[in-house]
Amino acid sequence: MPLETVKLTASFKLDGLLPQGLFSTYREILNQLLDYAWAKGVTSFKRLKAEKYYELRAKYPSLPSHYIYTACQMACSIYKSFRKLKKRGLVKAEKPVFKRQVVMLDNHLFSLNLEVWEASIAVENGRIKLKLLHGTYHEKFKEMKIGQAWLVKSEDGFYLKVVFSKTVELVELNGRTIAVDVNENNVAFGSMERVRNIETGERVIRTAYFLKRRRLQSKPRLNEKPLLAKYRGRERRRVEYIYHKLANQIIAYAKEESASAIVLEDLKNMRKKSRGSKAINGRLNRWSFRKFQEIMEYKAELAGLNVVYVDAKGTSSLCPICGEKLSPNGYRQMKCRKCSLEQDRDIIAVKNLFRRYQMDVGASSVHPESPPMIGGGKG
Ligand SMILES: [Zn+2]
Repeated sequence: MPLETVKLTASFKLDGLLPQGLFSTYREILNQLLDYAWAKGVTSFKRLKAEKYYELRAKYPSLPSHYIYTACQMACSIYKSFRKLKKRGLVKAEKPVFKRQVVMLDNHLFSLNLEVWEASIAVENGRIKLKLLHGTYHEKFKEMKIGQAWLVKSEDGFYLKVVFSKTVELVELNGRTIAVDVNENNVAFGSMERVRNIETGERVIRTAYFLKRRRLQSKPRLNEKPLLAKYRGRERRRVEYIYHKLANQIIAYAKEESASAIVLEDLKNMRKKSRGSKAINGRLNRWSFRKFQEIMEYKAELAGLNVVYVDAKGTSSLCPICGEKLSPNGYRQMKCRKCSLEQDRDIIAVKNLFRRYQMDVGASSVHPESPPMIGGGKG
């Protein structure tokens, strides 16, 4: 059975405060390292550490020394990506500067006790223990490996981001798949024979929070930033909760159908999905689609299912049976002039994704019992 490492980043809000000095000191160190790396062209962690570690340890004697290690790591990766972007003419700045309130941790600097949901973090003069605020779906982390982590200071408090990983065995591809098409307010999923469509109600949530934010911003007050951040956090959590439930439903369905893979659309060619107000949509939607896919992907893999991405270009405008260009035929309905197929555009999108998968990878791995591909077509 093929093995796959599933990696998940969890973001826990910390119930309490961290010393502000930790973030400013870390940023100071990181910027000194960046200056040095930039001036000398150092991209190797080993070299940066060899040339700067003792100097910085002497300069910041009360800071746990591993912060200097992780700052060296961060400085290298920031400088490397800066150099890459600079070569391609994508940054204006002459040299890299770190402005964020982020601190990278390694396993000497923090530990987690997931039985009591508590983090222990090394700071100047000792360790701080803080409770982690978490959702119910975080239970799964208890059986995963803990990797890198970051502390992040945001407008509404402190967060601990942790990368968890687990190696899973995926089932062999058997040609049976469930294709999933995500939209602004619904998710359609299934195969050529049967497609289910579930309303997410996401638009209602988005609109409600959009109005809340607008009301807040129209009232002049001293500082609305923390409240806005709180709303944004709540909105995100409500939407993510829906995504988690939905992903579970799709996986249960995939198991029922003995599917071996989940087919998702590659959003590089994301088609226009939203027809709502521009102010509500835009960036939020891109975040939504990607977020749903992320959740879908790791949940599927933890359940042993393969995840395959296929090109989404034209999936709602081409006939899944004969490949002809479809014409609109009433509200959300599409019609094929050539083979007279008439269907909801979301159902059509699912069928197209399903068929594309079969054409991309199916030819070599279709199970003998799986239904034959329908029609010829250009795709
Ligand atoms: Zn057709």
